[in-house]
Amino acid sequence: MRSIYSLLALAVFLFGCAEPPTYDVVLTGGRVIDPASGLDAVRNVGIQGRTITAVSEDELRGVAQFDVSGLVVAPGFIDLHRHGDSPANYRAQIYDGVTSSLELEIGVVDVAAWYGERDGVTPVNFGAAASHPYSRDVVMFGRSTGLAANETSDKPASPEQIAATVERIETGLEEGAVGVGFGIVYTPGINAEELQAAFGAAARAGAPAYVHIRADPGDFSNLDEVFAAAEATGASLHIVHVNSSGGDRALQYLERIQAARDRGLDVTTECYPYNRGSTAIDSHQYDDWESYSDEKFAAFTWVDTGESLNRESFAKYRALGGTIISPATYSLETVKALVAHPMTIIASDGMWLTNGRAHPRTFGTYARVLGHYVREEQALTLNEALTKMTIQPARRLEHRAPMMARKGRLEVGADADIVVFDPATVIDVATFEDPARYSTGFRHVFVNGVPTLQDGAFVEAAAGGIGIKAESE
Ligand SMILES: [Zn+2]
Repeated sequence: MRSIYSLLALAVFLFGCAEPPTYDVVLTGGRVIDPASGLDAVRNVGIQGRTITAVSEDELRGVAQFDVSGLVVAPGFIDLHRHGDSPANYRAQIYDGVTSSLELEIGVVDVAAWYGERDGVTPVNFGAAASHPYSRDVVMFGRSTGLAANETSDKPASPEQIAATVERIETGLEEGAVGVGFGIVYTPGINAEELQAAFGAAARAGAPAYVHIRADPGDFSNLDEVFAAAEATGASLHIVHVNSSGGDRALQYLERIQAARDRGLDVTTECYPYNRGSTAIDSHQYDDWESYSDEKFAAFTWVDTGESLNRESFAKYRALGGTIISPATYSLETVKALVAHPMTIIASDGMWLTNGRAHPRTFGTYARVLGHYVREEQALTLNEALTKMTIQPARRLEHRAPMMARKGRLEVGADADIVVFDPATVIDVATFEDPARYSTGFRHVFVNGVPTLQDGAFVEAAAGGIGIKAESE
């Protein structure tokens, strides 16, 4: 039974002037940009629990109020492609405006365990693909060797091995994986039969195939190979990092992808805003290393120490294994054109940290697009850039993971994944020589309503991230 005091308190609320706050959090006076709806105007944003419940010109009252006038308020960024998935990686991504972080290029070995380890303790939303290369390694080699080459990765699989690989992929899909990841360049033994069998598993689950295609052969057969598998099976297809896969021919790759779309294939692609790549030094990508010139060796960077290499140190580290940054093989003009192209989604390809270090894309991809390519180079507009970071990747995921229809948007009913940044100062500061530096210019980041970056500082206890998974039917 209600006491007289609570009735009195209610009377004060009803007839007095002190209305209780309606929202948990209110962001006041920011420039709200929602690329999905085209909204770009000063609005107040109200959050209740994990949901955006008001986007309004009216004054809103929150338990916590943030004055964000002069700042941009946008949906949190969705990174379809990054590898490093440690707490330190996630923290770097929060400083770069990312609220959903997915490993889709290669995927993970044990999907259920991977999601389980992150549940309830992760500051960003997280998701992964079932892995073709790791499944193949377990079947053919007995264990996964990551991106490093092993005795079987350049050998064709037998029909029994293909069936066993597909079975592992299917297990991952049943456990909720949001795609199937392929690194054909790392498993060059894969043939059309194996590719089609694995694409078939993706198609049956309504999950896209996320593919690192073979190195550029000069005739687009690396693209045509995956188009053929998509066509034969009906799988959706996403070509990762068209910048490093296509190099200075990447704009022609986009034309070829557009032609495939015009034929009715569901194909998308992405890029990161740098002209140097990074991968395992002992992968098949560097099988021809003994033929390199002294200048070429010197253009490689060993991530661990930042040193540039020579024939002796390359040989030593290749035997040891570890991560390398490759020489620039395409121009910054190409990078600029790719970042600005309407088809490309921005994705970081962020890497595992060694000694806290990795390719600078791990730390600075999103701030680099917003600060360097939007503000300094004016290669694209702020709205265009945000489209590539929010609604485009959300739409790529939504068919397989319908929960993504509530992300990548800043509207009533959407999940409160929000970034607040200063468009006049946002910039990457990570470099190839000194990569372990957080982007600057992001003021606040909310993940499902949980303040995760506040006044430019990471909130240590934040764990608002949820697993991005396929929902069981
Ligand atoms: Zn890759």
